[in-house]
Amino acid sequence: FQVPTAFNETVKSYAPGSPERESVLKQYREYLNGNVEVPLYVGSYEIKTENKASMSPPHDHKRVVGHYHLAEKSHVETAIQAALEAREKWANLAWEQRASIFLKAAELIAGPYRDKINAATMIAQSKTIHQAEIDSACELIDFLRFNVEYMAQIYAEQPDSSEAIWNRVEYRPLEGFVYAITPFNFTAISGNLPASAAMMGNVVVWKPSDSQVFSAKVIIDVFKEAGVPDGVINVVFGDPVMITNTVLDSPDFSGIHFTGSTEVFKSLWKQIGNNIDKYKTYPRIVGETGGKDFIIAHPTANPQQVATAITRGAFEFQGQKCSAASRVYLPKSTAGDILDRVKADIASFNPPGSPEDMSNFITAVIHEGAFDKLAGYIDQAKKDKDAEIIAGGGYDKSKGYFIEPTVILTTDPQYVTMETELFGPVVTVYVYEDKDWSETLKLVDNTSIYALTGAVISGDRYAIDEATQVLQNCAGNFYINDKPTGAVVGQQPFGGARASGTNDKAGSAQNLMRWVSPRLIKETF
Ligand code: GLU
Repeated sequence: FQVPTAFNETVKSYAPGSPERESVLKQYREYLNGNVEVPLYVGSYEIKTENKASMSPPHDHKRVVGHYHLAEKSHVETAIQAALEAREKWANLAWEQRASIFLKAAELIAGPYRDKINAATMIAQSKTIHQAEIDSACELIDFLRFNVEYMAQIYAEQPDSSEAIWNRVEYRPLEGFVYAITPFNFTAISGNLPASAAMMGNVVVWKPSDSQVFSAKVIIDVFKEAGVPDGVINVVFGDPVMITNTVLDSPDFSGIHFTGSTEVFKSLWKQIGNNIDKYKTYPRIVGETGGKDFIIAHPTANPQQVATAITRGAFEFQGQKCSAASRVYLPKSTAGDILDRVKADIASFNPPGSPEDMSNFITAVIHEGAFDKLAGYIDQAKKDKDAEIIAGGGYDKSKGYFIEPTVILTTDPQYVTMETELFGPVVTVYVYEDKDWSETLKLVDNTSIYALTGAVISGDRYAIDEATQVLQNCAGNFYINDKPTGAVVGQQPFGGARASGTNDKAGSAQNLMRWVSPRLIKETF
């Protein structure tokens, strides 16, 4: 059985004066001046509760653009019930039918919902249109298209049989329901985590990030219009501890698909462990978590290439990608040149502002908590003897949560911002002696608990080979002569090891396999 060959959605340029730019801005303004109300989605019901929370753009945090409803425990219990009631029909639906629904969702995003998903992402998460287009619209379209292809490959994989014996595998969904907890930073991930489990025949309870409700609502509308049946993906917002406790108390909890912080993932894992006797099956635990992603430049690296990798890798989307470059190792012989180029790049940016002005490269960080944390590390670097701020360092939260793109230069390779994930537009640079290349590679390996992404930039093939060997456990996605961000679905499956996750690559057959519980059938004739 053939499915349509997956292909990457072409990224639109949104050039000044282009119809696509005007069209998305129109949608942006409509949303900004409207008042969206987001209910809970439980079975066939859209539930409006007594408790509501407001939604505000991080770049204009006093403006309210809508409200969303907060679940009580009983709503979460009903969502679980609704999922379980929908399960049998969904699990037994021909897989081609499920594939068709998600391919339809991809085409809806590529077409009539593209402006909506991008404008909602610009408002909810303060993404520039270019980042929204890549990380929200196109990446979600790609996840849906490629996962359908991987799904077909999985179902086609069958054991050998002989004349009198037919061996076959049924790739059944998990027995129970899957809990999806999704992050604010990628609208595409937010859609992909529930969708990839659902595609394989599972039913889902989905809790989106509070900072992303506005764009999650567009995904929900897409799924509904594409024909995802009621009860297959149930959406609850509200107190994460209450929601998680309720979900993890259910004997039918059968898996978690998570992207978020290392700390939360570890606590979920412990809680699942403590509850293990309650469950009918061993739950699947799949998570992508933190990162402290590196760039190491060899003395032979082209200085402009390194500077561009730093500027784009560290500052696109205000450094709020799990993959963002946040610790950089430069050789003494070229460090000055590279850093001058980075400073010139930063000086060419507008001050942090609204994504509505499409000439802005830097907008706001996601919320006040993130802003305060980043401002705290910047203040500390201003005081510490072994650190110096060589670009940026300013911040202002009066209108939006604006942090200038900031470069800290440190003489201590273990300086706090070389080790700690900050999740913002702050990058720390350590300059090594050219002769210490090999030791510096070991330093890169030993400095952080994470292993998500990393990049080596070098003109010397032997140095690349050495880095590839020494850093083999240090990054689930390892980039040679490139920035460490911007994995493309279908080309660079994404995920990390160590404290960065279970490395069940997003956008891969390996990930989809976590959502099936195969039954082998041997029939003898
Ligand atoms: N896949 C994204 C990238 O390659 C990062 C995803 C994340 O931030 O979780 O940049």
